[in-house]
Amino acid sequence: MSRFQQSVDGIGAYVVDQDASLIKLNQNESSRDVPAALKEEIFERLRRTSWNRYPIDGSGALEEKIAAYTGHPVSGILAGNGSNELIQTLFVAACSKGDRVVTARPSFSVYKRVAGLLGVVLDEIPLGLRFAYDADEVIRRAKCARMVILAVPNNPTGTTISEKDLERIARATDGLLVIDEAYQEFQGTNAQSLLSRYENVVILRTMSKAWRLAGARLGYLLGREETARALSKAKLPFSVDVFARTVTEAVLERRDLMDEVVRTVRSERERLFREMEGIPALAPVPSAANFILFEVKNRPARSFFQALRDKGVLVRVYDEPDLRNYLRVTIGDPAENDAFLAAVREIAGGERA
Ligand code: PMP
Repeated sequence: MSRFQQSVDGIGAYVVDQDASLIKLNQNESSRDVPAALKEEIFERLRRTSWNRYPIDGSGALEEKIAAYTGHPVSGILAGNGSNELIQTLFVAACSKGDRVVTARPSFSVYKRVAGLLGVVLDEIPLGLRFAYDADEVIRRAKCARMVILAVPNNPTGTTISEKDLERIARATDGLLVIDEAYQEFQGTNAQSLLSRYENVVILRTMSKAWRLAGARLGYLLGREETARALSKAKLPFSVDVFARTVTEAVLERRDLMDEVVRTVRSERERLFREMEGIPALAPVPSAANFILFEVKNRPARSFFQALRDKGVLVRVYDEPDLRNYLRVTIGDPAENDAFLAAVREIAGGERA
């Protein structure tokens, strides 16, 4: 007899290949680390921090810096241990067992994982042609849903949805509309203006992608003051430690570092897409994020993945049926992208679609 819930025993482990000896293009991280000089400055700040005291939980210097970056009031900001924690907090705070939450399919796997653990029914609306969002179907199903959660741009497809459609969805549901904007910096637009007009809208962001801080674990949420206050009660106290706070405060002061990542990703995304389009065995999906999903046309995607791995390039492979023929590559630095393209050409060379 298991000591754990069926929902836990029934779920697979969250396994990600993290072999650092490979060219790592499988987790949508920034290929650039925080510069050494800034790390030194952060170490200095950490030396001045009290490690014996609990961190400030709520409106501290971190929240002030997030407010300065986003233009959103501190009272409507909630920081978390990665946006993953805030996703869990939203499900815990808004849903009971058996409640229905609307999302898209395929989308970010953590939504399904958290819903499954809580016994929440995830109503996954299939993306349409070329992985486009089906806004009309989302609206139909959103009516009596407890919550709607959409990644914009979506992971793993890189496809997006217009602000107008998001507004229609916000209007169609009494539940929360959570817009997960983990990749918004790469898209260049966001849905923040909806916050002032719709009290049920919540926006999720992360420092893990454009801001280079996947290792520091810092996500944040923008919403109405009442929403942030309610959600903070469902989150574990002090989940954002002094180290993550200090690192994030310092990095948020260096917008130039984020801009540099975004500039490189945008130009490399365009170049990679064009090059991949020219390879008959592949069909890339246009992306607004820092990755490109691509179809492998004439052999199982998993064998293509393994061939790439054997050549030292790590991309993302999927088990779910929707993505059986697809792989996802994170946009890296130009040299990493060149290595990816060279490996792809060697493997696909001569193969015709
Ligand atoms: N949302 C989406 C859509 C993501 O792709 C990711 C990271 N893969 C996250 C949230 C979680 O990011 P983090 O917990 O690092 O903030």
